[in-house]
Amino acid sequence: MNSRYEVVIGLEVHVQLTTKTKIFCGCSTEFGQPTNSQTCPVCLGLPGALPVLNRQVVEDAIKAGLATNCQIAPHSIFARKNYFYPDLPKGYQISQFELPICEHGWMDIETEGLGKKRVGITRIHMEEDAGKLLHNDGNSSAVDLNRACTPLLEVVSEPDMRSSDEAISYLKQLHQIVVYLGICDGNLEEGSFRCDANVSIRPWGQKELGTRSELKNLNSFRFIKQAIEYEVERQIDVVDEGGQVVQETRLFDPDAGVSRSMRSKEEAHDYRYFPDPDLLPLDVSEDWIKRVRDSLPELPQVKILRYQNSMGLPTYAAEVLAAERPLAEYFEALVNHYDKPKLCSNWVMGEVLGALKDNQMEVVDCPVSPELLAGILLRIDDNTISGKIAKMVFEEIWRSGKTADQVIEEKGLKQVTDIGAIEAIVDEVIAANPSPVAEYQAGKEKLMSFFVGQVMKASKGKANPGMANQLLKKKLSA
Ligand code: ADP
Ligand code: MG
Ligand code: ZN
Repeated sequence: MNSRYEVVIGLEVHVQLTTKTKIFCGCSTEFGQPTNSQTCPVCLGLPGALPVLNRQVVEDAIKAGLATNCQIAPHSIFARKNYFYPDLPKGYQISQFELPICEHGWMDIETEGLGKKRVGITRIHMEEDAGKLLHNDGNSSAVDLNRACTPLLEVVSEPDMRSSDEAISYLKQLHQIVVYLGICDGNLEEGSFRCDANVSIRPWGQKELGTRSELKNLNSFRFIKQAIEYEVERQIDVVDEGGQVVQETRLFDPDAGVSRSMRSKEEAHDYRYFPDPDLLPLDVSEDWIKRVRDSLPELPQVKILRYQNSMGLPTYAAEVLAAERPLAEYFEALVNHYDKPKLCSNWVMGEVLGALKDNQMEVVDCPVSPELLAGILLRIDDNTISGKIAKMVFEEIWRSGKTADQVIEEKGLKQVTDIGAIEAIVDEVIAANPSPVAEYQAGKEKLMSFFVGQVMKASKGKANPGMANQLLKKKLSA
């Protein structure tokens, strides 16, 4: 924290939606197709072609709004934002300006040391993306309009964040929410979740906001943090040297770790916004909003609390398990089959995540289904196998897809609970280790784990460890 200046940050996030088709035409939004293969008169901006709004985009916007505590406008308007750029064939972008679909929302974010903090969400509006310029050989450029008209939500925050850490915390939470809702794939590198950061500084205690600069081209959380921190230092230097921060757009260069001025910042009136006469005003009924609200999944913040409060999981486990929806679904399915959340959590966090990582697999492709895993846990519970053997069973199920009972049967892994059989092994272990026995009897009680280990080894892990322990104690103190 700087001793003289307070940092003020507001974020604009572009969320690319995962709808199958574009926002105003039926062209596919699939990534990585041959250039200009997903185009039609509407997204090419041919004169006279008329846009038709994609209903799914509205539904996704309502979802995002409800999940961030926004009010959903019963009536909203599409507007033309006019500017020239070769990737924008119509010469204007269809967006929303005066009456966006969502307003007045908020999110509670986690902050370092200060607990939860509420960040206001000014608005969420729908808009179309532009195309992409391809700079071929330094002498010519071409334009690919596959991305033109791809649906975006723009989520604009209030200038409520006071450090780069708070900005990242906000972004990670927003990212988690849109991925949870299933409306965005969340891929930062491919540009599915893009952020512009507005940064200013002001002397502590001053009420008015300082002049901001807007940072663009931030395609990872790490770069966003770096860019904000660089910008804060730069502004402090400017002011300390008697200068004034100018309102401008700056481009962050991650290789150099610096940002450069791109253009002086345009004002809204430069865009000559006006309502798009080709699109009807959008009316969203109470009933539609209610249906969307009822269809929302349980969101991560709520899940984390439920895992802690009603399942008794520690914070860390709750956060890991709730972080991604497929993992949370796996865990909850497991608990449905085997109602001991704590033990389920240990297995998912340990064996399941470990094996997935080793095999570079996603949880949805996990060969050990929640049901199969529950089958293992039940056999630990009824003492058929020990925890250690259970891990072997897990590996075998991973390979073969068989059930725990099949694996235990075929491999003869049933725990030995026959007291005579364990006693015989205990006797062997005692006979084979005269000096540890002497040391134990002279008071070195720590050696008990050594003896239990030897019994487990001799029984190939199948002796019931509790029984082995008791028998050893009895015999060694005799
Ligand atoms: P635009 O950047 O398109 O002109 P706005 O004027 O609505 O749009 O502001 C965009 C973002 O800039 C918002 O997230 C807002 O919180 C943030 N912002 C506005 N003024 C400041 C400021 N002085 N310092 C930091 N952030 C600011
Ligand atoms: Mg902006
Ligand atoms: Zn099209």
